[in-house]
Amino acid sequence: MSQLTSSVLGYPRIGENREWKKALESFWKGDLEEAAFLETLQAIRLNNLQLQQDKGISLIPVNDFTLYDQMLDTSTMFGIVPARFEYAGGPVPVNTYYAIARGTQQAQASEMTKWFNTNYHYIVPELKDAKPALTENRPLAAYREAKQKLGIEGKPVIIGLYTFLKLSKGYEAKELPELAEKFIPLYGQVLRELEQEGVQWVQIDEPILVTTLSEEELQLVHSIYTQLREAAPGLNILLQTYFDAVDHYEAVAALPVQAIGLDFVHGLEQNVSSLEQYGFPQDKLLGAGVVDGRNIWRSDYKQKLELIEKIALIVPKERIIVQSSSSLLHVPVTAKHETALPAELRETLAFAEEKLEEVVWLSTAAANADSANEASLAQELKLNGERIYNLSASPARNRKAADAAAIAAHPSVRQKPFAERQKLHQEKWQLPFLPTTTIGSFPQTTDVRSARQKWRKNELSSESYASFINEKIKKWIEIQEELNIDVLVHGEFERTDMVEFFGEKLDGFAFTRNGWVQSYGSRCVKPPVIYGDVVFIEPMTVTESVYAQSLTSRPVKGMLTGPITILNWSFPRNDITREQVAYQIALALSEEVKALEAAGIEMIQVDEPALREGLPLKRSDWDAYLKWGVHAFKLSTSDVRDTTQIHTHMCYCEFHDIIDSILALDADVISIETSRSHGELIHSFEEHTYDQGIGLGVYDIHSPRVPAVDEMVRNIERALRVLDPGIFWINPDCGLKTRGEAETVAALRNMMEATYQVRKQL
Ligand code: GLN
Ligand code: ZN
Repeated sequence: MSQLTSSVLGYPRIGENREWKKALESFWKGDLEEAAFLETLQAIRLNNLQLQQDKGISLIPVNDFTLYDQMLDTSTMFGIVPARFEYAGGPVPVNTYYAIARGTQQAQASEMTKWFNTNYHYIVPELKDAKPALTENRPLAAYREAKQKLGIEGKPVIIGLYTFLKLSKGYEAKELPELAEKFIPLYGQVLRELEQEGVQWVQIDEPILVTTLSEEELQLVHSIYTQLREAAPGLNILLQTYFDAVDHYEAVAALPVQAIGLDFVHGLEQNVSSLEQYGFPQDKLLGAGVVDGRNIWRSDYKQKLELIEKIALIVPKERIIVQSSSSLLHVPVTAKHETALPAELRETLAFAEEKLEEVVWLSTAAANADSANEASLAQELKLNGERIYNLSASPARNRKAADAAAIAAHPSVRQKPFAERQKLHQEKWQLPFLPTTTIGSFPQTTDVRSARQKWRKNELSSESYASFINEKIKKWIEIQEELNIDVLVHGEFERTDMVEFFGEKLDGFAFTRNGWVQSYGSRCVKPPVIYGDVVFIEPMTVTESVYAQSLTSRPVKGMLTGPITILNWSFPRNDITREQVAYQIALALSEEVKALEAAGIEMIQVDEPALREGLPLKRSDWDAYLKWGVHAFKLSTSDVRDTTQIHTHMCYCEFHDIIDSILALDADVISIETSRSHGELIHSFEEHTYDQGIGLGVYDIHSPRVPAVDEMVRNIERALRVLDPGIFWINPDCGLKTRGEAETVAALRNMMEATYQVRKQL
């Protein structure tokens, strides 16, 4: 054997220069005809396939490409189109497809939510009153295309029925088996047609199998796969899991399929120990996900080869498929343009294209290739080890200020308990009952963005840019005073993005030129790379906050992004744990907090909107994560005087299941999004006593609509039924950066009016 089978689970669709995004957006604008648009997309798709073939991948995924989102592809393939989009049956037209994703004047878009614990968002299928029918066989079309155009024997990828149903909405849990019955014949038909076409392997993604499932659910999964196998007995099914280890290993390994795919990066220890403990069925292949599909680092070849050898003690090499741990959709396309990065970093990056090379190299090296190859394999191995060593030995990764001892020695508890601090704060500021504030940002109008761009391109001097920002700050301090808001903010005009801004100013971060990944639809993000020890260099936010404070006698809140959010919205290094990275960031932020305090800013908000989304997939891992997450927050916020008031903000409302951790942050004031919770959030305060300062957003900031005074009065009154008015703050749901100026002022004016009315009644 000269090579083990090699495969990846999916490839980024956005193209090397985000051609995909550009095509989608021109099509939506009407600048590109449908036929030309589809042709452009086909070119990107074929190019991706060709590249995988050129790199030597043996099992190449097809049908992983999409016009928007693979979940939406699945629902439209089964004719699941919500009634408001007036769909008449048959293949779903492109315009209807995009209407579901993006909404129209008449019909609201379907909900969008995060794909497991990734930053990719999918369109949530609406199964209420659904009458599923197979409208077209997309996997078959993708298979035929690859075969006819490129002679590639593709591996169609399909989202598995159980995962699809579990991620859909519009039904009750007890209806699940019944729903599954409706879909099984349709999935069966898709598979049968693939079988008839002569397809060899199909990859069915069931990432839901890494979450905790009940006995009944596992039985239902078993019954689904038994029936699907009957539908296409001659087709090889690779049942694919990813993002974590499989808790129900024995049940999953026993499913009637020909191969099981496991994640040996994100579920490494548990998946290996399951193999060792229970063995692996002799009639199946194992998809061994050893190359990280979620992060951007080169694989450590030595370590990965050892891992494959370990697996091979249980599964013979002929039955191992060396593959990525998940779809490569979650990493950028290619690292080859990142020439501006320091060498030791550049050489340890592996984006999608480089990961293809890794998979192929590992599958070759693991096969004990013939001697002709051996020398070059050994050379690669050596080079790989050197590159990884160079980064680990670089000064960037060996900074004293961020070591474990510094972290351990740093205060993580406030001196006085909250109740005592609260009295001090009341005396100090004498804020009115129901104090009013906002969450931080004010409208980032085009002039703000274009000034920043000019400054970045050196078309605007730093002085002119700073005075432009100061003008904005001044204007908005005046507006806030005129509105009579109690606690002011400077408006965050100097920030593009709440993580990038800090990453650019802290040591240990790098920014790629082209490291885009799809977030949702055509929208891509370019997460910062945390490659070294994160340390504080110099104050990052003090100038703007101090300037704002100099303009008013009211308190101005300092505004920072918290350690967990910075971590979760970046690509972190993988040589130390996420926990350690979070502590390093926390320590650096603590310096900033102290610098603000020393400069006279004594209310400081540390935003943690990503705390909740970072929750592990398995319930049983939540406690450990929350524990270090809370500790990181406290490391950054505890080294202050008791008279200093720490605020935090979170923009979500699913709150009840982590409320203990939120209380444990020991923040003096927390503001949270509320309006989209439909009152559920309020309920959670009936069950928990909450005594820290709290602002439940009184209006939704996601739309330009100006909410009426009485609507906000009702929201405030509803909250005050369960919360002590003595701790209640009044604020919008989130930052106002995406809003226009006029609507912002109007909405805040109404918020103040609502506050006066409620204050009068109390
Ligand atoms: N302070 C930030 C802002 O107002 C918070 C943003 C967020 O929660 N995502 O923009
Ligand atoms: Zn928010």
